[in-house]
Amino acid sequence: MNARLLAPELRPIADKVRSGARISDEDAMVLYASRDLNGIGRIANVVRERINGNVATFIHNRYINYSNICLLSCQFCAFGAKKREEHAYEMAAPEIVATVREALLQGITEIHMVGGLHPTLPGEWYLGLLRDLRALDPDLVIKAFTAVEIRHLADRIFKLPLRETLILLKENGLGAITGGGAEIFDQEIRDKICKGKETADEWAEVHRVWHQLGGRSTCTMLYGHIETAAHRVDHLRRLRELQDETGGFTGFIPFAFEPDGARPALKDIPHATAHEELRNLAISRIYLDNIGHITGYWISLGLPAAQVSLSFGVDDLHGTIMEEKIFHMAGAHTPQQQTAASLEKAILAAGRIPMQRDSFYRRIADTQTPAP
Ligand code: SF4
Repeated sequence: MNARLLAPELRPIADKVRSGARISDEDAMVLYASRDLNGIGRIANVVRERINGNVATFIHNRYINYSNICLLSCQFCAFGAKKREEHAYEMAAPEIVATVREALLQGITEIHMVGGLHPTLPGEWYLGLLRDLRALDPDLVIKAFTAVEIRHLADRIFKLPLRETLILLKENGLGAITGGGAEIFDQEIRDKICKGKETADEWAEVHRVWHQLGGRSTCTMLYGHIETAAHRVDHLRRLRELQDETGGFTGFIPFAFEPDGARPALKDIPHATAHEELRNLAISRIYLDNIGHITGYWISLGLPAAQVSLSFGVDDLHGTIMEEKIFHMAGAHTPQQQTAASLEKAILAAGRIPMQRDSFYRRIADTQTPAP
């Protein structure tokens, strides 16, 4: 990296990153204020190359959104519905099993399953479904539930402490938990965009306990709504601190708010620009020096911008997905699925080596790493 090509405010940060030092919150604020997007991307690529070399990964997975019926009414969410609403739905467990059976024939290694906070589905419905999915293929990783779903299961459905709930879910087949529901951690922002959802500390506690049980999870950030750069830095700092403590996060997946389907209070906010999305990904890569992987979520970015993000610190393009509902109900215009071939092609064209990965970001071709 040629320091003379960087804007002056970026040079001290580049020096820190080159020497392997951690950047501060103040540095992150300088990055968010800088207009030198290419310079930020160059610095992010130093971290990406150090951690991941020239490989970029993707996973062969399928999404399942088992029900959108939800007790909460987050302002940004077009997916959640009350039981009485016309677009409310609930998949039957045999339908989910049949869908996953079919996806297994197409080579998936993971299902990614989340839903709303359903008021009446009994605990045995969740446990039986996990067992039935597990029985389809013991190697299939069932990555399921956001932190708020797990708290809902613990408090209202199983009526068990958090740790015991996670143990129960694990014993019945849960392989990894998803990073959703993190939104932006600042409580004032949460009160405006997702009132009633778990606090940042409650979100972190679910992941902390899961990590203590030997589990792994991803983490996310929903940005581009009413938050400021300082809120984003606060969010990244909390994730970095928790990762220092547990080491259990495998990857970070930031995505931009989709305004089209949002409730009136958030509707007039323009969608984040590609410039902002690339900048946020690159800053995340620089700041989160202890998280192995940064995902360019093509569902939100679109595949062309996700491909460009591979030059802005990103080393993973998520997966085939096969049927995405949450972003599309919110108005996303991106496709609902990708083939493995299209993800490989995008990675190759960006000058990286494509590699299929598993749910823990281990390269499928690399069998040296023991399972967590
Ligand atoms: S974001 Fe999740 S918790 Fe909030 S309303 Fe939508 S489905 Fe419910």
